[in-house]
Amino acid sequence: TRVGLDVGGTLIKIAYYNNEKLELLKFPAVHMDAAAEWIQLHCAHAEIHMTGGRAEMFQKLIPHSVLIMNEFDATCRGVLHLLSESGQSVDSFILTNVGTGTSIHYVSGKVQTRVGGTGVGGGTMMGLSTLLAGISRFEDIVRLAPEGDRGNIDLKVSHIYEGSEPPIPGDLTASNFGRVVQVPTAERTAADYVASVIGLIGETVTTASIFAAAQYSVSNVIYIGSSFVDNAMLQEVVIDYTKLRGAQPLILTNGEFSGAIGALLAF
Ligand code: ATP
Ligand code: MG
Repeated sequence: TRVGLDVGGTLIKIAYYNNEKLELLKFPAVHMDAAAEWIQLHCAHAEIHMTGGRAEMFQKLIPHSVLIMNEFDATCRGVLHLLSESGQSVDSFILTNVGTGTSIHYVSGKVQTRVGGTGVGGGTMMGLSTLLAGISRFEDIVRLAPEGDRGNIDLKVSHIYEGSEPPIPGDLTASNFGRVVQVPTAERTAADYVASVIGLIGETVTTASIFAAAQYSVSNVIYIGSSFVDNAMLQEVVIDYTKLRGAQPLILTNGEFSGAIGALLAF
């Protein structure tokens, strides 16, 4: 049997087939030893395929001889597999992986080209939520965010064009966190802060993706990464903002396992 692992900066993703059913699981990267133990226990004789920034580090924790592949190629392969398994076909698209950081790719046929990225990603969501609101667990962030109100934190175009007709939709964010200094005395809650943090991340990754889509003349943008998991607010910001900017968004179910699935299927 074979096992695919994506050892990322925050989470270790594992993919394998059990009686032809694809099984997917995750371990926090800080508990690399627990993931190594799991491998030793369940996959003593398996063929191990790995990818991700910490694959080489992880390799040292297990006795297996492993195959390591390029993270971007593995991810692209996994995405194409998930698309075809779900009966969706997209010829060419922008692939945006919102992991700890954000990586943006152009995919055409079976080949990916890295377009660029931004340091604004899931790690930023964790870090800013901790600094601003004292909330550092992912589950707490995504639970609290929908209760938040961005109105007293983010400056909208309509705030700047107060009383006049703006040349672009007034609802667009003119300046993330820009209202803080304009209305310094407004009351703000922890929920408001995390909501605005998620807004900042969603709008930033979308804007970068839209520029990539224009550069390669494609209209489909596929988003993956654990940052979206159970995170209805990030999903909504990214879906709405991508549409508003004239492209077609898709947040791929199980997309965060693309690297592990791609590694599993490769070679
Ligand atoms: P990279 O690809 O940048 O090396 P990664 O592969 O570990 O990192 P992902 O697993 O795709 O990245 O996403 C990590 C992000 O997902 C975190 O920064 C956080 O925002 C979010 N996240 C979702 N679930 C969890 C969790 N259980 N623990 C920590 N972060 C989580
Ligand atoms: Mg990753």
